[in-house]
Amino acid sequence: MTDGGNDPENTDAYESFHVLSHELRLEILLALNKAPDYSLAFSELQSEVDEPNSGKFNYHLSKLEGLYIEQVDNQYTLKHPGHRVIDASRSGAFQCPPDVGPIDVAGSCPDCGGPPQFTYKDYLGTVSCGNCGNKLISYHIDPGAFTDRSVDEGIRAFDRWVKSTWRMGSDGVCFACAGKVQVSFVRAAEGPEYSQLYRDFFASNHPVLLELDCTNCSFYSYIPTGARLLDATATLGSVDKDLIDIQRKKIWEYQYIIDGGYVELVDTDPWEVLIEVPTEECRAEVTLDQEVSIVSATLDWE
Ligand SMILES: [Zn+2]
Ligand SMILES: [Zn+2]
Repeated sequence: MTDGGNDPENTDAYESFHVLSHELRLEILLALNKAPDYSLAFSELQSEVDEPNSGKFNYHLSKLEGLYIEQVDNQYTLKHPGHRVIDASRSGAFQCPPDVGPIDVAGSCPDCGGPPQFTYKDYLGTVSCGNCGNKLISYHIDPGAFTDRSVDEGIRAFDRWVKSTWRMGSDGVCFACAGKVQVSFVRAAEGPEYSQLYRDFFASNHPVLLELDCTNCSFYSYIPTGARLLDATATLGSVDKDLIDIQRKKIWEYQYIIDGGYVELVDTDPWEVLIEVPTEECRAEVTLDQEVSIVSATLDWE
């Protein structure tokens, strides 16, 4: 199917996007975004977008009414889909991303103990070793992470973003559309061979990965199996104190997430994966089952 307009499943989305295909209509949404309470009267809105022709202005305004904006007490206001259009445009995903770094960050390289450095390029945040070049983590994030923030604050946002995306995704909820994410084990990141992210994937030496695939939108991802533990703070807080407050360490400081040496593939039929969680007092092992659920956590006091 090449013509989305004839596809009954896509007709609504096609028409909704088509409505936005005029500069003045986007300007109207942007003006409402800047207004107090996201609301303006007809004349105020007309003045904000600087369109002297009332007939023309009214025509384009009427096209947005219903889905993107609504009129309440003679005020035009953004509806939820209108906010989402603004959010997408302000994420920076449709503009040229800035280059950031390299900047020294917390942690150490699992291969050589060298100092990790953060860079941002082509929508990819990457932490790699400044000494041996080993890539600790690399993941997509919108340029919005670096808008109105210092570089250090942007790096903090990257850490929070990845944790949240991986926690939700490995629990079956899509960060992009709130849709259903299928979560499964795979031996390697297969398929997206033209993706810059997976051509030189930071977790390619892990014995097993989690594949996240949203059944509703285009979101897919391969992430380290250890990331599943980020969503198990209540279960595993007694095993690893750092999991009680997952903001205490940056995501690339969790050895069992970035280092495949802490992951053992026990079986594939059904799947069973064991993750070693190093702690100060003991050696802990967490077992994930076919459903990518935590089935046991054992402590070995040494
Ligand atoms: Zn290194
Ligand atoms: Zn989705």
